[in-house]
Amino acid sequence: MFNSIKGQLFVGLSTIVSAVMLAIGVFFYYEIDYILFASVDRMLHSKVQIIKGLIHEEHGYIELELAEIVAGDYDIPRSGHYYKVLMDGKVLAASASLVEQDYALDTDNSSSGSNEIIYTSIGPAGETIRVVRNRFVYMGRDFTVYAAESITETLGVLHNFKKILIFAFPLGVFVLCGVSLLIVHLSLRTVRVLSSKIEAITEKTIDQRIAPDVQVYELRSLARSFNVALGRIQRAFEAEKRLICNASHEMKTPISVIRSHCDVLLQKDRTLGEYKEALESIRHVSTGMMNLVGNLLSLARLDSGALEPGSFNPVHIRRCLDEIIQLVQPLALKRNVTVQHSCEDKVVVYCDRDRLIEALLNIVENAVKYNKADGSVLITTHETAVNVAITITDTGIGIPEADQKRIFERFYRGEAAAREFDDGTGLGLSIAETIIKAHGGTICVESRIDVGSSFTVVLPARERL
Ligand code: ADP
Repeated sequence: MFNSIKGQLFVGLSTIVSAVMLAIGVFFYYEIDYILFASVDRMLHSKVQIIKGLIHEEHGYIELELAEIVAGDYDIPRSGHYYKVLMDGKVLAASASLVEQDYALDTDNSSSGSNEIIYTSIGPAGETIRVVRNRFVYMGRDFTVYAAESITETLGVLHNFKKILIFAFPLGVFVLCGVSLLIVHLSLRTVRVLSSKIEAITEKTIDQRIAPDVQVYELRSLARSFNVALGRIQRAFEAEKRLICNASHEMKTPISVIRSHCDVLLQKDRTLGEYKEALESIRHVSTGMMNLVGNLLSLARLDSGALEPGSFNPVHIRRCLDEIIQLVQPLALKRNVTVQHSCEDKVVVYCDRDRLIEALLNIVENAVKYNKADGSVLITTHETAVNVAITITDTGIGIPEADQKRIFERFYRGEAAAREFDDGTGLGLSIAETIIKAHGGTICVESRIDVGSSFTVVLPARERL
């Protein structure tokens, strides 16, 4: 129950409803108790004051004008209304029921210093009564005036109210919990509809989207986020499919070249020279395949998140560039291209060293490969407070403007490159871009046909927080 939103909402709402109702019930009970007792106490206090006012002295005797007081409720025995006046401890006057039963009224013997006290006691008929006792001195005599009132009815009202509360509380809680459950159920209906729509999406219907007309406002943004996430998954899914398609296509050509060489060789006996020539071609084609497989492996590793910022360290760019120039030297010598860098010692980039070398090597190799004979490649660095920019400039064939947007796509090869250099895979720049982006960096190109190209890689100099 606690694992579901419905359960949590229901339990939460029910607890709050019960607590609020209990608090309201208790509050009203004590408020009514206070009001009822306060009104009885006020009335008794007034009666005591009236009785006090009626005590007077006449011809040297203290008298109490009974006629006015005894009239009314006090005159009726068992009326529930009582008074008694003591003078020097002796009864001066008392209401009919007290006269009859000689009831003391003074069950509260508190030694309170105050003149007037109020207390609850038991009346002559065994009922609960409220008593106001007032002590004072008049004409040198000690007077005590009691006024009392049966509060059986008041207690009855309170008792009935308590009974109503005890009955109404569980009923109210039950009804309100039922209403909360209904509200929760109705509110979550949209969630159920949404989740069934999401469940219906499979790899075959991955292009479907959740309609943005979801009734509940909060779920609209959930639906939007889901659509955005689905869009990303769809793009990755399609890229994966494209990659498999392209990889199979790229592998098919060299394999069929090897196969046809073998078929031709096997047709009849060949001379040693012919065998050698065929083996040379097979070797060349299989080297291309090895490059392709190596690049595909790199991409697969990168796509599966092999580059984690946790594995990044401060790396001296100068040493990396030295290593890259050494690695590219055989190709540069073959094509008579000079490769140099002008990086200072202290330039540091925060990265995975091996992957950075792989990325830069792909760019520098291209700069040599797509250069003119006797051309040159210059690598420069520019350091700012937060970034390091590495620019690889060549004097090569240049890249047509239309191609500049596409050269980072997987398997994309420029027309001239595909025509003149058959050992490319079209994956070098996309690997470089993936590595650089994983470092939080950027790569861009500027190029002019027959003048040369300039690739600029910008990488963070420090750890990103
Ligand atoms: P590959 O070099 O194997 O073809 P890349 O992904 O490394 O694949 O490069 C993609 C394309 O970008 C190349 O086919 C080429 O047309 C173009 N290119 C990359 N670097 C350069 C460069 N320095 N000069 C001219 N063209 C380049």
